[in-house]
Amino acid sequence: MKISKKASRVEPSVTLAASAKAQALKAAGSDVLSLTVGEPDFSTPKNIQEAAILSIKSGKASYYTGSTGLPELKQAVIERTKIDYGLTYEPKEVIITTGAKFALYALFQVLLDPDDEVIIPVPYWVSYGEQVKLADGVPIYVKALQENDYKITLAQLESVRTEKTQAIILNSPSNPTGTIYTKTELTEIGRWAVKHNIVIVSDDIYGKLVYNDHTFVPISSVSEEIRKQTIVINGVSKSYAMTGWRIGYALGQANIIAAMGNILSQTTSNPATASQYAALEALNGTQETVEKMRKAFEMRLNTIYPKITALPGFSVKKPQGAFYLFPNIQKTLQMCHYQNVDDFVNDLLEESQVAVVTGAGFGSPENIRLSYATNLDTLEEAVRRISDFIESKIKEH
Ligand SMILES: *Cc1c(COP(=O)(O)O)cnc(C)c1O
Repeated sequence: MKISKKASRVEPSVTLAASAKAQALKAAGSDVLSLTVGEPDFSTPKNIQEAAILSIKSGKASYYTGSTGLPELKQAVIERTKIDYGLTYEPKEVIITTGAKFALYALFQVLLDPDDEVIIPVPYWVSYGEQVKLADGVPIYVKALQENDYKITLAQLESVRTEKTQAIILNSPSNPTGTIYTKTELTEIGRWAVKHNIVIVSDDIYGKLVYNDHTFVPISSVSEEIRKQTIVINGVSKSYAMTGWRIGYALGQANIIAAMGNILSQTTSNPATASQYAALEALNGTQETVEKMRKAFEMRLNTIYPKITALPGFSVKKPQGAFYLFPNIQKTLQMCHYQNVDDFVNDLLEESQVAVVTGAGFGSPENIRLSYATNLDTLEEAVRRISDFIESKIKEH
């Protein structure tokens, strides 16, 4: 059978591929330590699990909901957004989706005509560019420099802006770098977007996972004008340890949200009903579990960061949020005589049984991504193995 040109152009997600490879090796009996996963290792808090079970037992979960989600869940999203960030949205400005990933997919389908351009700061989350291409848009990659804490500047944005620039994606705190934009920086970018009528796609999925007294400011909170220019993407996966439940949401102008609703009604229909009841409890119930998990990530970061920076050739600034480290290992590659990061990552897995993700999938082939969403023992053992691996490679030559 023939495969369409569009489908042939899509790259599979490198992070999912890397964790699948690690899992397969583990299943085959290998003692692999995986730092690949982009998900919390905690199981979903009990109160949330129970809300889902109740929705199943009571029969409510047997049925479709409206394809854009339960009205009470939209209300819960509105209230949480109001409590957390002081922002007010109407129910018609909210949509519940099958994960934040599908909110992004539906959004690009709505925003883009063929050849419309979307500015994507590099390093980027693996799916942005591919999703833009699936919507017949053109990703315009702008390299955020390590010297600038992996943040793009206004001058860079202005240098790539064209008549076809339709949107810019911001992901703060960032996957993979953990960088958070300041209010001043967001104000500048926001004003620029308003001035040129460029839609700001603000992926706030790590907004609650912020450490060591750093703060997350959503760009939508900077001014009313900027809020109107922004579509917020968020979800329960990362902050409530609910990746498997597949609940995300978007907030923004009613006409965009309605158009996304039409796409949902012809594609996924509603996200699983039991998952929606679980998300309802996540947003309305106690937030103490979120804080407990945040503290655990913070403790791991603070413990593991000094050991990672001490690895030969590793260059990495301490992340402010999310749960990844994204060291630049250019010097390490030279010391170990590797031509590229992919070979290093493959050998590390095969010879030392440590799985990490190549930076190439994030547009940054000088880096690797290590997730610290795993227990400390695993992290510490992984660092020991990486250290031994590097030492042995240096000695080999
Ligand atoms: C995990 C992740 C998402 C998608 O999350 P869902 O599980 O689909 O809700 C979106 N953006 C970034 C940056 C992520 O890391």
